[in-house]
Amino acid sequence: MGGPELERLIELFAKLPGLGPRSARRIVLRLLRERETRLLPLAEAMRAAAASVRACDICGNLDSIAPCAICVDPAREPRICVVETVADLWALERAGIYHGVYHVLGGLLSALAGRGPDDLTIAALLARVRARRWDEIILAMPATVEGAATGHYLVEKLKPFAIPLSRLAQGVPMGGALEVLDEGTLATALLARRTA
Ligand SMILES: [Zn+2]
Repeated sequence: MGGPELERLIELFAKLPGLGPRSARRIVLRLLRERETRLLPLAEAMRAAAASVRACDICGNLDSIAPCAICVDPAREPRICVVETVADLWALERAGIYHGVYHVLGGLLSALAGRGPDDLTIAALLARVRARRWDEIILAMPATVEGAATGHYLVEKLKPFAIPLSRLAQGVPMGGALEVLDEGTLATALLARRTA
């Protein structure tokens, strides 16, 4: 039905977060019905993003400039907020109350999944911390077992630098990823952060 190109498109959409075959078919039908206003602009936007957006060498954020706009912003305070994913970084930016820089770990420690410190950007974080003076390091880990294990590991590694370490206040719901929290909750958890 519809030829291999159409099948392929539906298959690709169906694998995106929050979508399945049903919603993928609906999206593809809509795109094809509105070829000029939806399909072609989307194809062009995807091509442009694929060509220009890269992970920042310093913090891991995604941006079309390198280093990213946050890392090159001279108004940012000398604090690092350590997050699991770029989605978490963006959630904190949307909350609008943090004015430091970030470090994206690219995952969490997990014995179950066989993910150790070398699979994350921990070495790069320690190198950044060593390279200059920082006022604070905030560990903004999700409230999961893996998030707690990762936070604990980072505290041990960062303690020798004698920089104030803090973590988000409880209020981040157990099991919750930061990116799904509303901005108010996230802002409150950040403002009420406590010593790690
Ligand atoms: Zn950056």
